[in-house]
Amino acid sequence: MDLSAPLASVKGVGEKTAEKLTKAGLFTVRDLLYYLPRGYEDFSRVQDIAGIRPGRVIIKATVSGVKLSRKRRGLTITEATLSDTTGKLRAVWFNQPYRRTQFVDGKEYYFSGEFEFSYGRYQLMNPSAELASEYDERSDEIVPIYRSSYDLKPRQVRVLLGKLELYIPLVEELLPASVVAGEKLVSRADALRMIHFPKSEAEAARARRRLAFDELFELLLASELNRQENSRLKSTPIPFDVAAVRSFVASLPFKLTDSQRLAAWDIIKNLEEPAPMNRLLQGDVGSGKTVVAGLVACLAARAGFQTAFMAPTEVLAAQHADTLSKLLTSFGVNCTLLTGSVKGKNRELVYKAIADGTAQVVVGTHALITKKVQYHKLGLVVIDEQHRFGVKQRQELLTKGRLMPHLLSMTATPIPRSLQLTVFGDLDISTLNQTPTGRKPVITKIVSPNSEEQVFKKLDAELAAGRQVYYICAQVDENGSDDIKNVQKEYQKLKKRFAGYTTGLLHGRMKTDEKVKTMRDFLYKKTDLLVATTVVEVGMDVPNATAIVVRDADRFGLAQLHQLRGRVGRGEQQSYCYLVTSTSAKPTRRLLEIEKSTDGFYLAEKDLELRGPGEIYGKVQHGELDLQVAKLSDTRLIAQASRAARAFLASGQDLLEYKELVGDVQKYQKITTLN
Ligand code: ADP
Ligand code: MG
Repeated sequence: MDLSAPLASVKGVGEKTAEKLTKAGLFTVRDLLYYLPRGYEDFSRVQDIAGIRPGRVIIKATVSGVKLSRKRRGLTITEATLSDTTGKLRAVWFNQPYRRTQFVDGKEYYFSGEFEFSYGRYQLMNPSAELASEYDERSDEIVPIYRSSYDLKPRQVRVLLGKLELYIPLVEELLPASVVAGEKLVSRADALRMIHFPKSEAEAARARRRLAFDELFELLLASELNRQENSRLKSTPIPFDVAAVRSFVASLPFKLTDSQRLAAWDIIKNLEEPAPMNRLLQGDVGSGKTVVAGLVACLAARAGFQTAFMAPTEVLAAQHADTLSKLLTSFGVNCTLLTGSVKGKNRELVYKAIADGTAQVVVGTHALITKKVQYHKLGLVVIDEQHRFGVKQRQELLTKGRLMPHLLSMTATPIPRSLQLTVFGDLDISTLNQTPTGRKPVITKIVSPNSEEQVFKKLDAELAAGRQVYYICAQVDENGSDDIKNVQKEYQKLKKRFAGYTTGLLHGRMKTDEKVKTMRDFLYKKTDLLVATTVVEVGMDVPNATAIVVRDADRFGLAQLHQLRGRVGRGEQQSYCYLVTSTSAKPTRRLLEIEKSTDGFYLAEKDLELRGPGEIYGKVQHGELDLQVAKLSDTRLIAQASRAARAFLASGQDLLEYKELVGDVQKYQKITTLN
């Protein structure tokens, strides 16, 4: 008997079942044992329909009249009537079209969901449904609910797991025995038994906690190891030149905020160390990160080191090059732009200047990591909007120096506390939590599409006062083919409606130099109104722009909307953000949150709650961070696992002795490392 035995070899598993299991990606006994329930139901708590109150309810009811009632803008609504001996109610499912074929008219099911008043009546919203006859024999205890996968039905999974109970004692321990004992954890084998065959809700919860602990322990061990490895790397200290810092600060047209000062101080301290800095500067849109980066680039240049400053788009790189030149030229520091559109002879000259060190601050896009770029003496790497880059791109830039350069990454998408402690545990973090003085929070309004003219009237007022306006169009379809048509149509419409003003158009399919020109025209107020796709989302800084309209706002994510809104409110004038919905239906939770708050940290926490970390941080950087059980919002468990991981490392035990652990930890190390 062995956990890697094929499921087909287990007694009682027929050929047909084995086929279904294979299709669902389950091959061995171990695979099925780790096929965890998505939740539990206590069917002994069923209520009579006549007696239910708004809130979470479970009923046992007969289904009738299932129908797909509406379909518009990709939204499907399935409805059904549920009845028991005491009464009837309506159930609705949004975007679950398979519900229509799931039920057999007249059969009994358990339904579990939220009973609430919405769309003008009381109904059961998106209930889960389980065929009652499958559960009746054990309705006196809590029942694990499995996902159905292809042809594999939840009931089958339960029956199969019953046959595998014998194998459970073979489940390997993952953690060092000292940790299991020290943290008073149940064994992993017991945890799996309690997850599949719980006696009570408390027991199931305890078991899940154990598995969640393991995931977090691995993740935290990985980031602690990264931190240790980082501190052993060699870099070159950049000395703190007090006079240079003083005169830089004195040259600014404004006073630095306290948090800018603190952040700069943290960075300066790190630069003096022989180990490379690995610091994230996070600050809400408009909090003034660029000038902090400019200050340290100035220090580096004065000490004879080059800075590579990488931005995600050409438009942004060009803007940064402008800004940094302004900040640095008077200190005799040269600032050079290198992007895809620097071509031919010019490009060769830039390469040469980088190689011989005359280019002291090199601002650019991905072009900075191409083979041809050889730095003379790279001491500092700054990565703006770091979440836009993959781990690999950052690493390539870092390996461009002979010694490891110091790294300053910047982001306007703040990292929630829970993620700071886990995924980003090996980072030092500075936060700009003040907006420069004199700025007023942007006033945000959700607007239905019928009220367009009212919004236009508001724009009239802004334009008449000499201010500028962004008008953002959403991506219309997946492959983007209609987007250009859409934004061009809007552009024509606005040109007519605002005939007295000049209107610019910016979208992704334009040539880069055209894009940069359009952006500069807006920056220098040659255009008053800019119709654009989300190309403007990151970083654009036009303080005279005081209104932004986002069309089809419901199609955007929370972080994206916050970024877009951050394009305004950068000067001293009151600014406005109008979120135009695509239908007149009830606004989404996301839109309500963004209307309510301008606090990027609050919104980041909400985003994490609404979408989960995989969606937000997953795509580019953390593709493999697929936590099965652990929740990154569980700060208590994170703290416990963190303590345990550090104690384990301090105990001097060799990680390599724990074969099960090593593989996972190394995988996580790759995901979380910056170097
Ligand atoms: P972000 O953090 O979003 O990258 P920027 O660095 O683009 O923000 O700064 C936004 C604007 O605020 C710029 O126009 C910049 O010159 C200005 N700014 C930065 N710091 C201050 C300050 N302390 N006081 C006033 N304005 C500032
Ligand atoms: Mg910026």
